[in-house]
Amino acid sequence: MVFEPKRVIFEREALNYPLGEELLRYFNQQGIETSFTASHNRVTFVPGRTRTEGYFEAKRTLVVGVRRTMDFATCKPSAHFQLPLATSCPGKCEYCYLLTNLGKKPYVRVYVNIEEILSAAKAYMEKRKPEITVFEGAATSDPVPVEPYTGLLARTVEFFGREDLGRFRFVTKFTDVDTLLGVPHNGHTRFRFSINTGEVIRRYEHATPTLAERLAAADKVAAAGYPLGFLVAPIIAAEGWREDYRALFRAAAAELSGKAPDLTFEFITHRFTKRAKNTILEVFPNTGLDLEEESRTFKFGQFGYGKYVYPKEHFAEIKEYFHSLAQEFFPQAKVEYFI
Ligand code: SF4
Repeated sequence: MVFEPKRVIFEREALNYPLGEELLRYFNQQGIETSFTASHNRVTFVPGRTRTEGYFEAKRTLVVGVRRTMDFATCKPSAHFQLPLATSCPGKCEYCYLLTNLGKKPYVRVYVNIEEILSAAKAYMEKRKPEITVFEGAATSDPVPVEPYTGLLARTVEFFGREDLGRFRFVTKFTDVDTLLGVPHNGHTRFRFSINTGEVIRRYEHATPTLAERLAAADKVAAAGYPLGFLVAPIIAAEGWREDYRALFRAAAAELSGKAPDLTFEFITHRFTKRAKNTILEVFPNTGLDLEEESRTFKFGQFGYGKYVYPKEHFAEIKEYFHSLAQEFFPQAKVEYFI
């Protein structure tokens, strides 16, 4: 599933970097509409009269920019810091965290000043040494769909491969992984796939690869010797959830059993904020997602706003079940967290 942008917008300054120039040449050769903007933060000419139209047009718009701020946000629970390589992604998942966080037109952005970004990462590592510092490459994007164009992940994986005190991790729902298989990662990058039941993917994760495609890509990544991870999120406890998630684990084990000696799991149950609910209903008015506040428990979050989560007993039941699935199908794997 290759991402084909409908239009590509360049910050003029991006052309001062080899990757910026290369991308302009490439997209012009492909006959894709290109134009310029003063700032990647203020791209005003993505079409779309309604919120839904603007969203869909933005998801087919690629903006090539220069990352200026080198203050990396913290990134709990999966890493110490975010590593900004890209923002947004061409997928259209109904519960995407970025839906509420990237404004009304979540266009896809890539940053061409990769060497400056990696130098900043090095400075963060220096400050924390002799501790190891972990960076997350997918906190504000899915970085894989743009990878065939940019090579940003390959460059980053290679960089961390040489760093004793740095580790890199990212998560994806996409499968354009071939250019990453031969990169000397030295076991310092954890390559994770976000997976879910076939039904959840079909209903809510529009414009993303199927479960079978993701598992096949995970198999290739494991064969390339990367530490592998699965993020199961969001866990949706709809009717038949036990059987459906059991089938998911069975499918993963059939594809990978014994091939991923260093495997991790991360589990995140479905939750939503009031704001996210309103945004989802605006962009996907026919959504089938369970957004009933009455059937949830309200929990104050770390940033001061509250979330609707599964009630305590139900949460405990799901947690126990997922731990038992991991144990049954992948007894060597480590569960990093369940939230
Ligand atoms: Fe959001 Fe990830 Fe889906 Fe992209 S693939 S829309 S980043 S949840």
